[in-house]
Amino acid sequence: MKYLIIGNGVASLGAIEGIRLTDQDGAITVVSDEPVPTYGRPLISYLLAGKIGKDRLALRDEAFYAANKVELKLNAKVAAIDVKARTATTGAGEILPYDRLLIATGGVPFRPPMAGLEGEGVYSFTTFAHAEALAEAAAEVKKAVVVGGGLIGLKAAESLFDRGVAVSIVELAPRVLSAAFDDKAGAIVSERLGKIGLKVFCNVSAKEIRRENGKIKGVLLSDGTFLEADIVVVAIGVVPACALAKDAGVTVDRGILVDEHLAASEAGVYAAGDVAQAPDMLTEGARVVPIWPNAYNQGYYAGKNMAGDAASYRGGLAMNAISFYGLATTSVGLVNPPADDPRFEVCDIVNAEAGTYRKLVFQDDRLVGCVLLGDIDGAGLYTGFIRFKFPLDAEAKQKLIDGAPSILMWPENFFDANWNPVGAKETV
Ligand SMILES: Cc1cc2nc3c(=O)[nH]c(=O)nc-3n(C[C@H](O)[C@H](O)[C@H](O)COP(=O)(O)OP(=O)(O)OC[C@H]3O[C@@H](n4cnc5c(N)ncnc54)[C@H](O)[C@@H]3O)c2cc1C
Repeated sequence: MKYLIIGNGVASLGAIEGIRLTDQDGAITVVSDEPVPTYGRPLISYLLAGKIGKDRLALRDEAFYAANKVELKLNAKVAAIDVKARTATTGAGEILPYDRLLIATGGVPFRPPMAGLEGEGVYSFTTFAHAEALAEAAAEVKKAVVVGGGLIGLKAAESLFDRGVAVSIVELAPRVLSAAFDDKAGAIVSERLGKIGLKVFCNVSAKEIRRENGKIKGVLLSDGTFLEADIVVVAIGVVPACALAKDAGVTVDRGILVDEHLAASEAGVYAAGDVAQAPDMLTEGARVVPIWPNAYNQGYYAGKNMAGDAASYRGGLAMNAISFYGLATTSVGLVNPPADDPRFEVCDIVNAEAGTYRKLVFQDDRLVGCVLLGDIDGAGLYTGFIRFKFPLDAEAKQKLIDGAPSILMWPENFFDANWNPVGAKETV
């Protein structure tokens, strides 16, 4: 059996490990357009901040590829896939045949049309190379504007600030971390960033990057504010890198559509990670949930299925755990339910004195989402209630609201080998 994996991120790593559980002999080829073996992508912010060196980025040791009999082609980009002939062709013209193909191409940073965007001094922040380029720039500049207050934007902002660069963050939404957080949690994070010395501008967009003789002078915002800057980091989102799949006739919606076996529309083709639109644990249908644990799990299940071990992926769960200058935060599941849907009940508790915030979202008798700030001790337990869809009576619900979740509240038969989550189809 010939396995071909396009992309060498954590989904690819999961796939190698998934394949080798079942098939120790098949030939695995991995093609990556990056110059380095799999690394911890979230770690690039620590690299930029100067907190870790390059030597700490690797996810597996040097022997990993050899031990798993993987032919790794670095600095090689797949330019086309032919699903009928079952081949992929690299930009250099090399033709790679496959029996099973995994597309694990991740995401590409989205760049909006904006005057002044083209030219030097504008950066993305999703790869090792981006982090290195930004670290080099940070040594020479004083002011930066980060466009985008999502996870990647905030991580870039924090790391640049740690390097001594004055940073302003511009966010179109009314709050930072708009996808994962609600208004109150976003406001608490903004306040923390403000206290540290980062400037946060919400409800406003970057209209134009102003330059003089090609050199960046600053960013003009939609409300007329002008923010001086030497460099600009554009971090307004990552879109699934679906072009290859689309061109090959593989069905693509927001991402490459895959079933519970991570199989795409064409025979022998699978997709996993940030590029895939896969079944979701809480919602009906498939969603792109571009986070690390989902990428590994999807890769792992894709690998098992590619090797012939029919294994069902139970669906991903949106989940983020990040710390901003000592403020620990966690967001899991559905945290911004539709306001006018009577099936949802939202409880939020702010303790200004302790600097904590807890928001729980219930759907009927289940916990479907939570946001924790400041005190995240119960995060694992709350995640368990969400992941396993435990039904809650009034007393149990109140305990969760009071911040007292306990493993003793889990169903007695949970640890039985044949335990099954209930009500999966009943949730929105
Ligand atoms: C700064 C930052 C911080 C993050 N922090 C968190 C966090 O705290 N928690 C969390 O859960 N997630 C976090 N993430 C997201 C997480 O890193 C991703 O969800 C995960 O890396 C996705 O893995 P993947 O394997 O699907 O794709 P990727 O890691 O993006 O790998 C895809 C690879 O495919 C390569 N490729 C693409 N096209 C081709 C081609 N045609 N030919 C060859 N190679 C190709 C790409 O160059 C890339 O190397 C963060 C991401 C960033 C950038």
